[in-house]
Amino acid sequence: MNAEIIAVGSELLTPKRLDTNSLYLTDQLNALGVEVVTKSVVGDDRDRLAAAVALAVSRSQILILTGGLGPTEDDITRDAVAQALGRGQTLREEIAAHIKQIFEQRQRKMAEINRRQAYVLDGAEILPNDRGTAPGQWLEHKGAYVVLLPGPPHELEAMFIRQCLPRLQRVAPKLAIRTLVMRVAGMPESDLDQLIAPVYKKFENPATTILAAAGDIQIHLRARSSTGEEASALIEELRRPIEDLLGGKIYSWDGEPIEVIVGRLLRERRETVTVAESCTGGLLSEKITSVPGSSAYFVGGFVTYSNRAKIDWIGVPESIINEYGVVSKETAEALALAARRHTGASYALSVTGVAGPGADDAPKGTVYTGIADESGCTVVHRQFLGDRARVRSFAAQMALDLLRRRLLN
Ligand code: ATP
Repeated sequence: MNAEIIAVGSELLTPKRLDTNSLYLTDQLNALGVEVVTKSVVGDDRDRLAAAVALAVSRSQILILTGGLGPTEDDITRDAVAQALGRGQTLREEIAAHIKQIFEQRQRKMAEINRRQAYVLDGAEILPNDRGTAPGQWLEHKGAYVVLLPGPPHELEAMFIRQCLPRLQRVAPKLAIRTLVMRVAGMPESDLDQLIAPVYKKFENPATTILAAAGDIQIHLRARSSTGEEASALIEELRRPIEDLLGGKIYSWDGEPIEVIVGRLLRERRETVTVAESCTGGLLSEKITSVPGSSAYFVGGFVTYSNRAKIDWIGVPESIINEYGVVSKETAEALALAARRHTGASYALSVTGVAGPGADDAPKGTVYTGIADESGCTVVHRQFLGDRARVRSFAAQMALDLLRRRLLN
């Protein structure tokens, strides 16, 4: 069974607003085994929307519209659907009375214009809205289901769960879906794809999607079958060869980010970490402390951005910076060792690099990351491509991956 989603509203065509309702709906529909095959955004234009609706119902079994159910002239969803499906609309006094009552509860008088929200398409079932005034509507049209939901996300989500989900469960064929999200660190997306594409391309089910962010790649496997066991078995068939190819580069099998994985490992070992950051300017500390309970293992850190701070605050020898440069293996090592000495943490991570634009010391994208523990210090050098934000993000991810590997060995 497949579905289309149309988000209605001219504001969604501006650079200021994003259609997030369709992401929510896609997630919910996928969980029911329904594929979303087309999504679109249509402005407050009745003819354009009617054309989009007519096309959608001619080719998809489910059409969900969000937004445009308000009382004003630019709320055109009801009228556009009526036009597309050739249906009339009837004013339902009980809905108008209910809306009036909502206004009265808020000590306000209902404007006449709000009666527009009480119009129901002929043949439609009303989906009550317990978080707002606009009711939703559910109707069948020549074998397709057409659903009208309000735009505000908190109204839409509550209405979907309470009203649509039970109806969709009745009409959607029983299909079990299993997903696995593997996350990989320390590998460029192109290298990863080159390595695993020959394997995953052999499989249509599970379907594989690769999502890449700076220094962090997610491999999503999604299998569909008539039973959960079969879908899990299909996932296993593809998971194993991918694991053989990527080995220790996979750090998570359930979508958890690296800072959560590292935090858990530190907690299990009752060990602690500190950081001395330069080009990441606190990003590494931010990531580590984004995990609830991180105070159990994060002792604190240093953002030593200037050379002076590196020398005066944590005691990086001035001679090292003068001799090797601030973006160097030696400075990364001195930073990590000094941070560990100062705090007594089990591990110290250091980052020094050029996030961009280029500096005298080194080309843009050069990053040195160090890890110090009781056995000494190791430094890794990488050259990243991309803008400032991307290089900083890569650097923080790389430092966390260094710690993860050290903890696992
Ligand atoms: P209302 O009765 O509140 O007018 P409505 O069904 O007419 O409800 P819209 O007027 O289209 O909904 O949207 C109301 C608000 O809901 C928008 O300003 C926007 O903030 C949010 N919204 C609408 N559509 C979406 C969407 N697709 N994704 C995320 N937010 C949305």
